[in-house]
Amino acid sequence: KNKEYQPLYDVLNDAIEFSSYELLSIDGKPYYEYLTKRGIHEDIMKKFSIGFNPKENRLYEFLKAKKHKDEDMVSANVVRISQQGMQDVFFNRITIPIHDGFGNPVGFTARVIDDSSDAKYINTAETPIYIKGNLLFNYHRAKDSAKKQGKIYVVEGAMDVIAFAKAEIDNVVATLGTACTGEQIKLLKSLNSTVCIFYDGDRAGQDATYKVGKLAVERGLSVEIVKNDHNLDPDEIIEAHGKEELREVSKKTISWIDFLFDFLMKKFNLNNYSEKKEYAKIIGEEISRLSDQFEKDSYYNQLRQVSGFDLSQGQSDAQIPDRQSQ
Ligand code: ATP
Ligand code: MN
Ligand code: MN
Ligand code: MN
Repeated sequence: KNKEYQPLYDVLNDAIEFSSYELLSIDGKPYYEYLTKRGIHEDIMKKFSIGFNPKENRLYEFLKAKKHKDEDMVSANVVRISQQGMQDVFFNRITIPIHDGFGNPVGFTARVIDDSSDAKYINTAETPIYIKGNLLFNYHRAKDSAKKQGKIYVVEGAMDVIAFAKAEIDNVVATLGTACTGEQIKLLKSLNSTVCIFYDGDRAGQDATYKVGKLAVERGLSVEIVKNDHNLDPDEIIEAHGKEELREVSKKTISWIDFLFDFLMKKFNLNNYSEKKEYAKIIGEEISRLSDQFEKDSYYNQLRQVSGFDLSQGQSDAQIPDRQSQ
């Protein structure tokens, strides 16, 4: 643990304590009720140290009274310097702390409870201890259970992780958005587990599933995709259909290659020869990475049936038959 950053961890720990307390105050009532309406009760609030930051500068005043230095508050990005002086970064929002892999607090993701802001969530800006691309939300809580089960779910949002927690599933991390970096893939790799991507059912979520899956497979991870027929995110599934359904859906995973067959089918027009060739090339390349010969054979066979291209003999691009020989 880096001693140099201890003052920042101290600031964040006190900020978490303050926000948790404020959530139970009179000011926090609408925020508490919002969470209750989303099925988030005190056990879950505690588990994730969920809080509420009231109107401007209450947190700053609290931290000042706790003898924290302005520069540490600014450095941790809980306070910023503005024209009017020091100003809280998060206010009139639900706050959910984000931790590093060791469980040190490093920042927040914070949500409004109405449409008062065009930014539904704001997250901590980059700081010496909050480097977004190096963090996965809930990693410190998920890692042991993931290693034990050989499986780690990757979801988009903190609320999705929380939905899983309600269903008593702990091996879940969130990328906090749809972007995923090589560093985050490294964190996942160190878990020695199959990565089960469970992004939102919308287009952005599915496009990101392709990107993240590709990156993970390239880095040697074993990847499966949760087959999400609901077109909802995990939190919406639990809200609409209950815990049991979320558990059931989570178990329905398809292989990376099966995901590609489906996903790319929607991206390429297979009635167009060159698009069909591109489709076959991309999937053929992914099949060639597989180590299990039985799986390989059967997927090449499937590819041949869908596209007419037989790539099973380890052919290079040049050997894909062109139009004349079709
Ligand atoms: P909720 O269920 O509370 O509406 P969500 O997780 O379903 O949240 P999405 O709209 O699906 O929200 O977005 C996925 C994730 O992307 C969010 O959890 C959040 O981390 C991130 N995100 C969304 N909107 C923003 C934003 N305006 N700024 C920064 N990050 C955002
Ligand atoms: Mn989405
Ligand atoms: Mn979502
Ligand atoms: Mn949601």
